[in-house]
Amino acid sequence: MSIKEEMSKRRTFAIISHPDAGKTTLTEKLLLTGNLIRSAGTVKGKKSGKFATSDWMEIEKQRGISVTSSVMNFPYRDYQVNILDTPGHEDFSEDTYRTLTAVDSVVMIIDATKGIEAQTLKLFKVCKMRGIPIFTFINKMDREGRDPFELMEEIEDVLEIETYPMTWPAGMGKRFLGVFDRNHETFVRYTGNETEDVIPYKELENSQYAELTDDATYQESEEQLMLLDEAGENFDREKVMRGEQTPVFFGSALAPFGVEAFFDTFIDMAPEPAPRRSTEGVVSPDDPEFSGFIFKIQANMNPQHRDRVAFVRICSGKFERGMNVTLGRTGKTFKLAQSQQFVASSRGTVEEAYAGDIIGIYDPNVYRIGDTILTGKSVFEYDELPQFPPEEFKKVTAKNVMKSKQFKKGIEQLVQEGAIQLFKRYRFEDYILGAVGQLQYDVFEYRMKNEYNVEVDLQTLGERIPRWLNPEQVNEALFDERNMLVQDREGNPLVLFKNDFSLKWFKDNNPDIELIDLFEVN
Ligand code: GDP
Repeated sequence: MSIKEEMSKRRTFAIISHPDAGKTTLTEKLLLTGNLIRSAGTVKGKKSGKFATSDWMEIEKQRGISVTSSVMNFPYRDYQVNILDTPGHEDFSEDTYRTLTAVDSVVMIIDATKGIEAQTLKLFKVCKMRGIPIFTFINKMDREGRDPFELMEEIEDVLEIETYPMTWPAGMGKRFLGVFDRNHETFVRYTGNETEDVIPYKELENSQYAELTDDATYQESEEQLMLLDEAGENFDREKVMRGEQTPVFFGSALAPFGVEAFFDTFIDMAPEPAPRRSTEGVVSPDDPEFSGFIFKIQANMNPQHRDRVAFVRICSGKFERGMNVTLGRTGKTFKLAQSQQFVASSRGTVEEAYAGDIIGIYDPNVYRIGDTILTGKSVFEYDELPQFPPEEFKKVTAKNVMKSKQFKKGIEQLVQEGAIQLFKRYRFEDYILGAVGQLQYDVFEYRMKNEYNVEVDLQTLGERIPRWLNPEQVNEALFDERNMLVQDREGNPLVLFKNDFSLKWFKDNNPDIELIDLFEVN
């Protein structure tokens, strides 16, 4: 098969949701449809007591969670599916955000009983900023949830994205009868067991289904569907591809119900790998030369070997085991000795891979997050990965002042690698760390001790609101301990505001000072 054919079969996506919305359950059902695992319960260690893709790192074992995003790869129909995990809750970190730079589309799960929750909103914003196509699965329809129209409205209002219900529910909870599948023009009847009755629209009037169509819940839903057909948005694939419209599906990951109806439509509609911008212009995914970028580095995966694995999103060409590649940043060429592709709970070796695939490569301490590796005469780098605003800040010092040399070296390297962000206060020698979640601090502390032999003290500054400043408007006199003026790694000035109130107060009193929110969606 040609590189172009291989590439066009790839579907690489992440599932975003708030904890408990059903991401694990849905992922398991998808793996089951792909016949990858025999029994559910192996995706996440928390419940089954077994670890999933990344049980190497000591800290992961202690916490019983997977620290960094894992990758699952399986064939489905004619497609090659790559699902990238986006860890949530206390394991939410910058890696979670960065994962979204390596996917071509996203599935957003919303709990029908709760609507949009905090973490979903954060992840959604990153997708919106990057124009990633988003498909919505409204889960837990087997429970008494919120009104479907109300949920649509909430998505439109809070997320500012058009919705197109691809399926529409008839009832919910105890009265859940199934969904209308507008794409396949069928009614998928909920039978309460694993088999789904798929009835074409035109057969619904048959006497065989008279009982169903006589049902008041069914009739109400059918009327709603007519209303949607007449007054609702039209389906617009172009808008979906630009991230301006989201197709919405209803179902229950647990039952399971509506999962296949969703996945079959999703997999056909979801985009294949897209061209990507680089310093040498746009690179096409079917370019014969191999290229990819590193979006995550996982350290100490095997404590015996102290090795690290860099996760590469392939953007063009064909990857082959043991090939020679050039590192875009330095122009140096070397051989990729070892590679691993991650499939559910086993760590298998990959012989070849194509644009859209994710591979893990052995990192002899040379890579940085955002690095490009490639073959061919032209040496380039893919666009830099965006910086994500941290939420939690801590002042860090070495417990033992005699170790300041290792301390500085450790911080320097971990920051360079992208494990955590470093800020320096104006005039002070303070080192301030910024992270998206607590996990990053745990990993930082652990690695400083294990890799650099330095114990650190972390003094919390709490959740702060970072706003970048126009360098020409920096006025030290305006800031203090509450609203702290710092510089990021590149020397850009920013303010760590104590809270919403301080931010608002500052804005009201200094209307001329421009405050830049890196997370603002235009
Ligand atoms: P995650 O935190 O998003 O990975 O959520 P899980 O998949 O672990 O699910 C959280 C809880 O919700 C578990 O107890 C699941 O059994 C339950 N759950 C998931 N999907 C459904 C569903 O469709 N219906 C119902 N009733 N419960 C569900």
